[in-house]
Amino acid sequence: MQAFDYSRPTSIADVKSALAAGAQALAGGQSLLAAMKLGLATPEKLVDLSGVAALKGITVAGGAVKIGAMTTHAEVAASAEVKKAIPALADLASHIGDRQVRNRGTLGGSLANADPAACYPAAVLGLGATVHTDQRDIAADDFFKGLFETALQSGEMITAVSFPVPEKAGWQKFRQPASRFSIVGVFVSKGAKGVRVAVTGAGPCVFRAADLEKRLAANWSAAALTGATVKADGLNSDLHGSAEYRAALIPVLAARAVG
Ligand SMILES: Cc1cc2nc3c(=O)[nH]c(=O)nc-3n(C[C@H](O)[C@H](O)[C@H](O)COP(=O)(O)OP(=O)(O)OC[C@H]3O[C@@H](n4cnc5c(N)ncnc54)[C@H](O)[C@@H]3O)c2cc1C
Repeated sequence: MQAFDYSRPTSIADVKSALAAGAQALAGGQSLLAAMKLGLATPEKLVDLSGVAALKGITVAGGAVKIGAMTTHAEVAASAEVKKAIPALADLASHIGDRQVRNRGTLGGSLANADPAACYPAAVLGLGATVHTDQRDIAADDFFKGLFETALQSGEMITAVSFPVPEKAGWQKFRQPASRFSIVGVFVSKGAKGVRVAVTGAGPCVFRAADLEKRLAANWSAAALTGATVKADGLNSDLHGSAEYRAALIPVLAARAVG
């Protein structure tokens, strides 16, 4: 690992100055430090966000659950507010990685990293959440751009995410046995913004399954997805499964998520 300068400010303003001076944000380190150890990332300066209390915490107000970017997966999974308002979100967080990863990894780090097999992107897109940064609010449909790519500008920091509380929601993941990342993960919801079906793990980045949404909007039931198919074009093929295999899994997991 290459040497780097390290700082741990206690205010958002000081983090912004460090980012503006070229530092890279360090959250739980579960993806960044792993990439640094492999030489895939070589930041000269790291600014640790764990000292900023304003970036942590969970609140429920105005029909939405707002979660601070530095809130760990374990805190989301254990939160009574999240379990009550959006149990599927707590369930999703409780199955990310393993206990060590859940106790270090954060919501903000997961979204900024935008791993194609990550779980949280499916909840953000599947609920029509809003990603708050130090500069603006970004709608879920505009946030994920491609493989490990988001709408974030250089030096832009995620501060929190607001998840609208749906009428119904569900999550199902077919996971890689070792890392537990999603080979395919499907988050479904029915709420004020209509029906949304978001798929992670299957493509270069999370996407919405329009045909499945249409079927569930007409009839919110697992039976509504009987015979539904998803095209394999552009889906991932790797040692975990072919594009055709993933395409076949999507409506099955969506039906299970509807329950
Ligand atoms: C063994 C293992 C298994 C895993 N299994 C899963 C799994 O099943 N499902 C899953 O979804 N994930 C899984 N992960 C990934 C895990 O969720 C990581 O926590 C997540 O990818 C990164 O979050 P972090 O807080 O650790 O961020 P870091 O690694 O600290 O940062 C990741 C990237 O985001 C940037 N960043 C961090 N915070 C911010 C912010 N607030 N604003 C802007 N940029 C920011 C960093 O600069 C870096 O580029 C696994 C990881 C490991 C090591």
